[in-house]
Amino acid sequence: MTGKRVIFMGPPGGGKGTQAQRLEKKYQLKQLSTGDMLRAAVAAGTDLGRQAKAIIDAGKLVSDDIMVGMIAERIDETDCANGFVLDGFPRTVPQAEALDVMLADKGLKLDAVIELRVDDSILFDRIRKRAAEADAGSVRADDNEDTLRKRLDIYHGMTAPILPYYGQKGLLHVVDGTLPVDAVTRELEGILGDC
Ligand code: ATP
Repeated sequence: MTGKRVIFMGPPGGGKGTQAQRLEKKYQLKQLSTGDMLRAAVAAGTDLGRQAKAIIDAGKLVSDDIMVGMIAERIDETDCANGFVLDGFPRTVPQAEALDVMLADKGLKLDAVIELRVDDSILFDRIRKRAAEADAGSVRADDNEDTLRKRLDIYHGMTAPILPYYGQKGLLHVVDGTLPVDAVTRELEGILGDC
């Protein structure tokens, strides 16, 4: 399977990044993670990185204009010609609408939108476990219970409303994100094999 265009949706810390990386390897689909792109900008100390750091640390969303521009640039690059997995984008209905326009302009369409579903209570359990196990140095500034609460409120209020948008288009597949990591991957392979 090549040339698929897939979106990963799911709550913060729900495992999107891990699964998107696995699909990138298996199907040569380029993983486009807006979280990784923003963290790279922060590490490089660009203007955007400086603005983004405060927003990310506060558990808020970077503006739609910035994020749409960032994705538009990447989708045009040749390493995305064989398909891509979007991880962390779109995060708002306006971002989803902008993506539709972007793809339609290029004559491209989405193959699948996958929701990795995980209850809030399990996400809190995971973050507590991670904090207990991790070396102090490896815990990100945005990795704490307060920030998780804020990010979940934004997820439910601004990101989850995208799900019915894709449901109406017949693109949405829901996967139980509480299954073991390998079992989640098998579910995804089943979905992508068929779509
Ligand atoms: P994972 O599930 O892989 O742990 P995550 O949901 O915890 O990922 P990232 O996707 O890495 O987090 O995003 C980190 C932060 O970057 C977000 O909380 C937000 O502030 C910002 N961000 C990332 N993508 C977007 C976007 N599409 N729109 C607005 N802000 C974004």
